[in-house]
Amino acid sequence: MAEAFVILTSEIQGKPPSILFINSNKGKPLLVAGDYTFKLNKATTTTKYWISTIKDCAAKVHTDSNNGLIKSVGNHSHLPEKEKLEAREAREKITFFKNFSHP
Ligand SMILES: [Zn+2]
Repeated sequence: MAEAFVILTSEIQGKPPSILFINSNKGKPLLVAGDYTFKLNKATTTTKYWISTIKDCAAKVHTDSNNGLIKSVGNHSHLPEKEKLEAREAREKITFFKNFSHP
């Protein structure tokens, strides 16, 4: 119950955008923004460039080196992939917010 309260509070405040970071079952980093999933395309010292996991989709996300959202670019050309991520997302979101409150 404590975890649920933390998440709810963050959503009321409107921050941060609901992005979170998980690893694929192959160990590759993935970013989840809303109901969509992105894979890491390129990383520099200051910026990480994420692209949609769906081939030919134009949507991208940029994050900084602290995993903060810089911007999202483009629109998805497909429906969200919510179903297969739902269970995993719930677990990782709790971890994310715990980390967030203890930098
Ligand atoms: Zn997409």
